[in-house]
Amino acid sequence: MSDIDEVKARTDIIAVISARVTLKKAGRHWKALCPFHSEKTPSFIVSPERQSWKCFGCGKGGSVLDFVMEYEHVDFVEALETLAEKAGVKLERRVADTPESKLKEKIFAANHLASEYYHYLLTQHAIGEKARQYLKTRGVTDKTIKTFVLGYSPNSWHGLLKYLQKKGYDGELLEKAGLVIPSRNYYDRFRGRVMFTLKDHRGNVVGFSGRLLDPDAKEAKYINTSETLVYSKSNVLYGLDVAKAAIQKEGGAIVMEGEFDVISSFQAGVANAVAIKGSALTQGHVNLLRRFADRLVLALDSDLAGDAAARRGIEIADRAGLDLRVASMPTGKDPDDAARENPSIFKKALKAAEPIYDYFITSATKRFDPKDAFGKRKISDELLPVIAKIDNPIVQGHYVKKLAGALGVSEDAVGDGMRKLARTQGFGRAAEGGKQELKKGRSRGENLGLYVLAILLQGKTVDLYEELKESVAITDFTIPAVRQILEHLEHYLKEHPVFLIKDFADRLPKELTPTLDEAFLWDVAGLLDDQERLSKEWTKALAELKRMSLRRKITDLSKKMSEETDTGEALRSLTRELKQLDNPR
Ligand code: ATP
Ligand code: MN
Repeated sequence: MSDIDEVKARTDIIAVISARVTLKKAGRHWKALCPFHSEKTPSFIVSPERQSWKCFGCGKGGSVLDFVMEYEHVDFVEALETLAEKAGVKLERRVADTPESKLKEKIFAANHLASEYYHYLLTQHAIGEKARQYLKTRGVTDKTIKTFVLGYSPNSWHGLLKYLQKKGYDGELLEKAGLVIPSRNYYDRFRGRVMFTLKDHRGNVVGFSGRLLDPDAKEAKYINTSETLVYSKSNVLYGLDVAKAAIQKEGGAIVMEGEFDVISSFQAGVANAVAIKGSALTQGHVNLLRRFADRLVLALDSDLAGDAAARRGIEIADRAGLDLRVASMPTGKDPDDAARENPSIFKKALKAAEPIYDYFITSATKRFDPKDAFGKRKISDELLPVIAKIDNPIVQGHYVKKLAGALGVSEDAVGDGMRKLARTQGFGRAAEGGKQELKKGRSRGENLGLYVLAILLQGKTVDLYEELKESVAITDFTIPAVRQILEHLEHYLKEHPVFLIKDFADRLPKELTPTLDEAFLWDVAGLLDDQERLSKEWTKALAELKRMSLRRKITDLSKKMSEETDTGEALRSLTRELKQLDNPR
């Protein structure tokens, strides 16, 4: 048994979670208000049988280790050590022994040396003079240069390469670190640039970005390390290593666009700023920030409301339960300009950050005229989908009222608009007509398949499976993992007259576990207590699944029809089948 399995086996998930969250028994599961997002009715479910947990509100879930990582804001190794100590398990193998982690260590070491090299050239060497002057004109102090380990990459092809080769690193490894580019030989990726060292929150050097010094050069203003084993753009926040302590202390982080924004904020006394480096806010960024902050203030250059990528980022942060605000800089200025021009106005602008939904309303009513019909339409087209997605009904109600006020229409009109949208697009609270709640990020068909699997696993599996096979085929399910679970179930039931979830789960390939848990932990307890309701719901769900599958096939075939002719009979036969399902004799 591996260390990890042993720790899991000797740990009672209910004991660990109930030490931190108030659990209530619900059938074969335990339930609680989710500690990871705010909610009024419990959708956080723990299964002692499966030794796993899942929140159906925010989508988080996993093993006891995942819970400790999430709850205590620690990484996997730290969580394992905590639980191992409690369970009295001595960890044998160090996690750092795999070939991959050895390579990572080497890349960190090479990056670290590169960072020292660039820093030395900037601060000590004659070659760094122009860069020193440049930073001075941008108001960057020596202390800041040290704190952020700024550097200079000389305008030569092999400066860094030769330096690191002398230190015993070969070109192949340096290429893996993203520091050099292969050609006939290798050459330095960063040349003639002010260098920003990119570190993870633990202080490992994961990569670099470099800004051109020469304003006339024809290259990109900024370049970054290529994606490597330790660097992926969407998982790195510039300045997090420096800002981490301040972020924790404040309980909040300020998210900015660029390296210089963070640096100038730092010098103006705002130490909790990080930069997404011109990209959109990603799930990776949000996961990282959530470990240290409950609050995010976005101080970005772009008009968030008008920018689709920015809105996706906001949705991600919102779903993570973060308190999101938007700070507006004085017109035409980025935080770098604002912080250097007038630190106190800059800080006031940050303090005055508006809650995200207020910002959306302000922004839309600025761009379109809320008094004429056309403007009202534009504003509601933009805002209804946003408001429809707000999870918390009280908060949602607040913004329905606010939008109605801004448009000068009744709250009912806004509510109607939202319901109409939910009907056509199938999202948001208003769409949750039936007993099945809509799982985030899944289509209606995928949800239905998972719901069917949920009832199947939690009810009388053997009997329900018989019925399932009579009315639908495994191919009617759209999620591949659900189909695979059903195939395994088919085999399992052939050999085992009784269905035991633990036994079944043990035989399942590991990659199917998250889907199995999602279905097994889906809260259908109320349904299972009422045989009559269960049976009705089961028949209905299976019929709907079949219907959706047939419709999909018909759409596919109709598309083909325009190209081929012999699909006509197949199409007629499917349509007949669908009609029969809709009007059973
Ligand atoms: P500066 O003040 O140095 O001119 P900035 O931060 O005002 O830079 P923007 O053009 O607003 O520059 O870009 C914001 C951020 O986006 C930059 O700080 C940088 O991290 C990133 N960025 C800018 N240009 C590029 C590019 N060509 N390739 C990759 N990233 C870039
Ligand atoms: Mn700038």
